[in-house]
Amino acid sequence: MLDYLVVGFGLAGLSFCEQLQKNNNSFVVITEEDKSSSVVAGGMYNPVILKRFTSPWNAIPQLEYAIPFYSKIQERLNTQFVSPFPVLRVFNTIEEQNNWLIASDKPNLAPFLATNFLKNTNSALITDNDFGVVKKAGRLQVAKLLKAYKDELQLKDRYLNEQFNYDDLIVNDDCVLYKGFIAKQIVFSEGYGMKLNPYFNYLPLNGTKGEVLLIKSAALNLDSIVKSGIFIIPLEEEHIYLVGATYHWDDKSWLVTNEAKIELIDKLNLVLNCDYTIVDQLAGIRPTVKDRRPLVGQHPIYKNMYVLNGLGTRGVMVAPTISNQLHDYIEKGNELDKEIDIVRFVGEYI
Ligand SMILES: Cc1cc2nc3c(=O)[nH]c(=O)nc-3n(C[C@H](O)[C@H](O)[C@H](O)COP(=O)(O)OP(=O)(O)OC[C@H]3O[C@@H](n4cnc5c(N)ncnc54)[C@H](O)[C@@H]3O)c2cc1C
Repeated sequence: MLDYLVVGFGLAGLSFCEQLQKNNNSFVVITEEDKSSSVVAGGMYNPVILKRFTSPWNAIPQLEYAIPFYSKIQERLNTQFVSPFPVLRVFNTIEEQNNWLIASDKPNLAPFLATNFLKNTNSALITDNDFGVVKKAGRLQVAKLLKAYKDELQLKDRYLNEQFNYDDLIVNDDCVLYKGFIAKQIVFSEGYGMKLNPYFNYLPLNGTKGEVLLIKSAALNLDSIVKSGIFIIPLEEEHIYLVGATYHWDDKSWLVTNEAKIELIDKLNLVLNCDYTIVDQLAGIRPTVKDRRPLVGQHPIYKNMYVLNGLGTRGVMVAPTISNQLHDYIEKGNELDKEIDIVRFVGEYI
């Protein structure tokens, strides 16, 4: 008998698999690959909300756990995924500069907000104003990480690329049965796909569609992430940048749209002063939740069934700590942080 079946292999599923590997638990992952928010993600980790210069939920402990977590996988798989990058925030007004300085005095933001502003020296960027520099930010190459991790799991016969059919699941008191597999527990980490999961679709996963462009520009020459109306993120491939992202709440399709393309180009043209070509456009649905906190915990009825979801807009920072919490909850009986425990929505389970 396996210890675990894991359904869905994005950042949530991968992080949980890493907890299982660290603890020598046996498992198999079953996942489709075509509807993944993680593959589309810019992969940025940034401990500051750059609209208002505030701190995201739990940013410091998340970052302190996440970077060594990914770095360890990076070492084991001998492939680089984690790249520290400063984020340059283009100031639009003097008031914004003042707000930045006020924020930089706060203990949870002081480690991240540099108090010396930078002058723009890049003629490809249109701005007369200074930049604020966010320290300790960077990028995780999520698609590359998923691919390398999948290769490792395949070598161990732990990865199945297929749709999970909920009708074929049999849940007993002491185990779950699925198409010839027997496992003590099952963990669902399907991202927005959870909407079709009859066991957990009572949870208030809203979903926020996002689209990004990949552009090529030999003239841009950026070695930092730039945040103006949009993010411009240098990628590993020479002269290629990721531009994004959009936020749309009504459209729940995984298809790219012309509307998003125009929105991104309009924002890009406000800040870029150089030629570029669009080489690709990608779309995904972020697993966002009504109260903006992850969805973690045990099914209200089936005690060997768990969920790890609701990573929202910051999956890179959030996934490692919550996967650790879920594993400690199941294996050691530790309590879950009340803010992430799905018990908070038990009233919505009928
Ligand atoms: C445009 C965009 C940009 C983003 N940028 C960033 C960023 O810069 N930084 C950041 O931290 N976050 C970013 N995010 C958010 C981030 O992508 C998510 O928080 C995170 O990837 C969610 O991971 P997940 O594993 O929960 O879901 P997913 O990555 O969606 O993975 C779920 C997996 O489960 C599979 N699945 C679902 N149902 C089934 C089923 N029935 N059977 C089998 N498999 C199934 C899916 O196919 C998928 O592979 C961005 C998101 C978008 C859309």
